[in-house]
Amino acid sequence: MTYSYDDQNIFARILRGEIPNKTVMETEHTLAFHDIRPHAPQHVLVIPKGPYVNYDHFSATASAEEIVDFHRTAAAVCALLGVSPGKGGAGYRAIANSGPDSNQEVPHYHLHILGGRNLGALLPH
Ligand code: 5GP
Repeated sequence: MTYSYDDQNIFARILRGEIPNKTVMETEHTLAFHDIRPHAPQHVLVIPKGPYVNYDHFSATASAEEIVDFHRTAAAVCALLGVSPGKGGAGYRAIANSGPDSNQEVPHYHLHILGGRNLGALLPH
C-alpha cells in the first residue's frame, strides 16, 4: 500500500500556521475548522494533524490514539454545532471524499460535517 503525501497541500499549510483558519476545536492530534466555502449552514472540516492523504490511509495506518482522538473530536464538534441527534439536534452528514472518483480537492484526510438544513438525497441521481 503506497500513499504519497504532498506537504504543500492547503491543509498542511493551515496546520503549520501559514494560512489562517476559523478553528472550532483543537486537540493534540486533531484540528476542526470552518470550511471556507460552506455547502450548508453548518460546515466544519475535521482533520488529523498527521500526514494522511485520505480516509483509508488514515484508518489503516494512524495510531489508535490518533484515530480515537479524531473520532472523539468529530463527535464533540457535532455536539458543539447542535446537530447531534442524540443531543436534541436535527442531524448532520459526515463525508470523507477520497481519491479521484470522489473529486477530493485537498489531499489531506478530512471529514466534512454538514448540517443546519435538510441535506436531501445522499447523491444526485
Ligand atoms: P474535498 O473536495 O477535498 O472533500 O473538500 C475540500 C474542502 O476544503 C472544500 O469544501 C473547500 O471549500 C475547503 N477548502 C479549500 N481550501 C480551503 C482553505 O484554504 N480554508 C478552508 N477553511 N477550507 C478550504
